[in-house]
Amino acid sequence: MKRDYYEILGADRNASESELKKSYRQMALKYHPDKNPDNKSAEERFKEAAEAYEVLRDPEKRKVYDQFGHDGLKGQGPGGFGGFEDIFSAFGDIFGDFFGGGGRQHGGADLRTDVTISFEQAAFGTEETVAVRKHVPCHTCKGSRCKPGTSPVHCGTCRGTGQVVRSQGFFSLASPCPHCHGTGQIIKDPCTTCRGEGVEIDKKQISVNIPPGVDDGSRLRLRGEGEAAPGMPPGDLYVFVHVQAHEFFHREGQDIYCQLNISFSQAALGAEIEVPLLDHKPKVISIPAGTQSGNRYRISGGGIPQIRGRGRGDQIIQLVVETPKKLNKRQKELLHDLAEIDGKPVKEKLKGFFQRLQF
Ligand SMILES: [Zn+2]
Ligand SMILES: [Zn+2]
Repeated sequence: MKRDYYEILGADRNASESELKKSYRQMALKYHPDKNPDNKSAEERFKEAAEAYEVLRDPEKRKVYDQFGHDGLKGQGPGGFGGFEDIFSAFGDIFGDFFGGGGRQHGGADLRTDVTISFEQAAFGTEETVAVRKHVPCHTCKGSRCKPGTSPVHCGTCRGTGQVVRSQGFFSLASPCPHCHGTGQIIKDPCTTCRGEGVEIDKKQISVNIPPGVDDGSRLRLRGEGEAAPGMPPGDLYVFVHVQAHEFFHREGQDIYCQLNISFSQAALGAEIEVPLLDHKPKVISIPAGTQSGNRYRISGGGIPQIRGRGRGDQIIQLVVETPKKLNKRQKELLHDLAEIDGKPVKEKLKGFFQRLQF
């Protein structure tokens, strides 16, 4: 027993077109195979919702369904309806919203997947493999929806034109053929693998070439790697790239920043210090005498490459002069001597300081 289309979508019989669309979106998102891997019942619900929406979104078909129920729509293939492409373009709309609208009206739905890469991989580019569960052309019928060795035949009702003409008084009204749903063709022997849908769900490994310079939140579009739709161009796959934080570097535009702590003596006297670069090669930089906390040292071209462009940003080293926290006796003596030479008063005299500590 087939379930009622309105019940499937959780929609009212008087629901408007936009209400139906909304209900369908909720169902499609909830039961999408990507969200429910290896869940047969979710897959069924997904298809069921798609079928229900496919019928109810079409005012003609909805009228027939409202009047005659499922029986009114019988006559074509096992699904009783003809347009997977419509279903998936409707699903494509959902993602169209995610991606700020636009997109194709027809064809397979777009899909999204996420990939997480390291900071260095983002800088130098990498190749990642993502696994995507999606509709692909049926392996048996190659998407033709017909049993191998058979092909669609002209619809007898409309003689292959896809339209029926009714006379009403003086007028002739042309409407899409209800038998073939305007396609002009009937599939007499549907493929048994895909039950005439032309697609099946499969898990595909897709290799994603991530270019050097990609940033966190970047989106890559792989044309034609989305959902398949019989007779239509496939959708696109959008890969959202997440870049892990680096323990040492952070990125601003094409430049990378890092912090380098130096001692008071190094800052005052100058020093040669080895610093890590993004490509892990060590580099010795020369800190000039008299360096102040907050001074910056710039390594030209040590940053991130321009994505699909020329040149690289810089590596900027922020120098922080550390005030020592733990001092041994000798260090304290030297610092007190220094303070004396400077003529700048310190909190306590050396002697009194130690006396107090002994308590
Ligand atoms: Zn098939
Ligand atoms: Zn027809």
